[in-house]
Order: sequence, then C-alpha cells, then structure tokens
Amino acid sequence: MSQEIRFDQLSLDPRIVSAVTESGYLHPTPVQAQAIPALLDGADLLVSSRTGSGKTAAFMLPALHRLATQPAPGRGPRLLVLSPTRELATQITEAAKKYGRHLKQVRTVSILGGVPYPVQNRMLSKPYEILVATPGRLIDQLSSGRVDLSRVEMLVLDEADRMLDMGFIEDVQRIAGATPGQRQTLLFSATMGKEIVRLSRDLLREPLRIEATSQQASHEHIDQRLHYVDNLAHKNRLLAHLLQDGSVHQAIVFTATKRDADILASDLSGLGHAAAALHGDMHQGARNRTLDGLRRGRLRVLVATDVAARGIDVPGISHVINYDLPKMAEDYVHRIGRTGRAGNQGIAISLASGRDLVQLKRIERLTGRAIAVHTIEGFEPKVPVRHAPQDAKGRRPGKGQPRSARPESPPRRGMGAPAPWIKSERGTQARKRPGG
Ligand code: ADP
Ligand code: MG
Repeated sequence: MSQEIRFDQLSLDPRIVSAVTESGYLHPTPVQAQAIPALLDGADLLVSSRTGSGKTAAFMLPALHRLATQPAPGRGPRLLVLSPTRELATQITEAAKKYGRHLKQVRTVSILGGVPYPVQNRMLSKPYEILVATPGRLIDQLSSGRVDLSRVEMLVLDEADRMLDMGFIEDVQRIAGATPGQRQTLLFSATMGKEIVRLSRDLLREPLRIEATSQQASHEHIDQRLHYVDNLAHKNRLLAHLLQDGSVHQAIVFTATKRDADILASDLSGLGHAAAALHGDMHQGARNRTLDGLRRGRLRVLVATDVAARGIDVPGISHVINYDLPKMAEDYVHRIGRTGRAGNQGIAISLASGRDLVQLKRIERLTGRAIAVHTIEGFEPKVPVRHAPQDAKGRRPGKGQPRSARPESPPRRGMGAPAPWIKSERGTQARKRPGG
C-alpha cells in the first residue's frame, strides 16, 4: 500500500470513498494509486501487474465515479467488463456492487455462461449501467439483439492473456467492434506477450503503461516450497499429511484434470476433510455453492483445475498445493496468487517427481527464482531428485541429501497409510490436458 496517499485524496466521489473505507481500505495499492488518476483523466491503460495487487478497484472506482457524476441518457451498458471466467466475472460484479452501494442509480448486470437465458433476459430488460460478461455468452446475446453496446464509454479487458489463451480473441475483437470508437479502453494482463501487445495496438489509443510489480519481483509474501515425491502413493501420503496440519486454514489443491479434481475431492472428503471440487464441467449453481462454501469457511479444501480457480479471491486461503504442476508455467503464478491475498502471507507447495523437472525449470525461469526444496521427516523421497535449487540442470546429486533413516515409512493406518485414493501410475501418465 502507498502509505502517503489516501483514497479521499484521489478526487473520487465521496460516496465511493465511503464504500471503499467501509470495506476496510484506507490507502490505494500501487496499481490503484497510478491507475485511478489516469483513468479519471480519460486515458487508455495497459496494465501488467501481479495477481492480488488490487486491479479490480483500480478500474472499478474511476468507472463508478464517471457513472455517478456524469449521467448519460439511453439504454445499454456504459461500462463493459470482459472476463475470461464466470468466477472472475462474479467477483467483479460483487466488487461493482460493493463499491457502488451508495450509488442508487448504478445497476450492474452480469452475462455468464451457465445462467439460464430467461433469467438473464429478465435482468437485461431493466436499465443498467455496468455489464460484466464472459465473451462467449455476450456474443450470443449480441446476436440476439438483447444487448446494445452503443452507449459503452469504458471497455475493460480483465486478464486479457487468459482470454487469449482460451481462444476468445475473435470474440473480444467483435465485441470491441460493437462499441463506440471513442470509448476509453483498459487492458489488464499478467503477461505481456506478442499477442497481447498486438491486441492492445488494435484496441487502445496511446495507452499509459503501468507495470506495477514485475512477475520476477512479486510474491515475496508467498513462501514457495517444493516437495519431491517418488510416486503417486508417496504424493498422496504427503498430501494427506500436509492437509492434516492445523496451520492450513484453507487450501486450494490443483489437479491437472477435472476427473482427478472430482476423485481427489471425494477421497479427501472420505478422509474427513471438508473438501469439494471445482471445475468447468460443473453446473453454475454447483460452482457458486462451492465457492460460497469456501468463502464462508464451510469448506476447507478446494480441489480445482486451473480454469475454474482463476481469479478466486478468498482471504482465508493459507495454502496452495500443486498436486500436479501446471502445464503452462504462467498458470503457476496464477495458482500461487490464490493465497497471500489482501496483504496476508501465504504458502504455496508444489509436489513434483523426477518427471516434472522440465516443467519445474520453466516455472523457475518465468518467476526468476528457484523454488526451495523442503522435506518432512518420514516423508522424504527415497530418490533425491535434486537437492539444491541451484542445480537447475536437474542432475541427481550424489551426496549431501540427508536420507531418511528408514528406507520408507511403513504403511500406517489413518492419515499415514496409503490412502484409498491411490491411483496407478499409468493412470497419472494417461492424464493429458489441464481441464477446467
Ligand atoms: P487482482 O485483480 O490484482 O488480482 P483484486 O482486485 O482481486 O486483485 O484484489 C485483491 C485483494 O485485495 C482483494 O481481496 C481486494 O478486496 C483487496 N484490496 C483491493 N484494494 C485494496 C486496498 N487498497 N487495500 C487493501 N486491500 C485491497
Ligand atoms: Mg483481477
């Protein structure tokens, strides 16, 4: 937080400042401190910053300010926010409602896949100023003529890199094409690859660039650890042990596939954990109930795929556990960003075997640092894969790694025993694409 600036010094409408301070925030985060004045000035913005840096309020507060202080006639949204996933869109909608709660005339509607059309159509039939949407469903509604984007003053592309990854590029461009050319445009992205730069050239006008915290410098508040495992049985034992620890307030466990998320969640429930799965094959109602359970603390362990967990912002998440490493190195950054929210500390634990060394290297190259290798007594790998993080070649060290006194902990009953959800190694290898 920038201690020297307060929200009431940013020339925002006092009703918005009240809503923000009632949420417990006095000082803008660095991204907010830079973005808010620029947006109030009408600038386009290209922002790369790490997750958890407060980007939502960075665009929502100035947008609300404009809606509240400069009324405009007509129908259709004045602020349009595009988001890659339903969960993220829901969080943005909640932020709009939270920060706009003293602005009676500002209504927010969200258009998300999975919500029945009649429900959505009813919401769209009343006047509203803010529309939060996932690109696919918005395209449907545009074609049906239920949404008119000719009043859009501000277009926000949140997590644009992920929207491109998910193949929404044409949808995004079509949607942007349906909005007025003189709009203000904001693009947020964790990474600034070639495609993002190209998209920003197409859609933004002389944007102000904000690079709040580079990917490399970020995540000091997240303790990143690596545990090597010999095989799946070892991995399962270690996971059970980790989750048993009282310091785990809430955890998200990431799996590579939807199916594994289901299996692991049900097996962990069987072991007595308040666990549930979250992935893209679930109905919206079930997804909402699960996230709500996590927010209210009824759930302690969420087993999720990458797409479903994107953007989840629950302050109680003390641990992120990579049961499977992500296919894409960028997803590692997003995953660990689910913990250490809102100024908290977080712990991110990756479970990896010798097979994951290439992927590990990619992750470490992206984050610019080696993940510290940890061992737990009784759970040491029999074959030390790489004892020092600086041995980035993945060579197997000969000496120096303290081996377990026992070659392998004998199977015990309870949490230490091989869990009933141990799957065959073949099963693991057959897993292909990250689901969600
Ligand atoms: P990002 O989009 O950059 O990942 P979010 O907008 O989701 O980050 O915000 C991350 C968390 O920080 C949220 O819990 C949010 O409520 C909180 N937050 C936002 N602004 C502030 C602030 N000025 N001070 C403290 N916490 C904040
Ligand atoms: Mg965000």
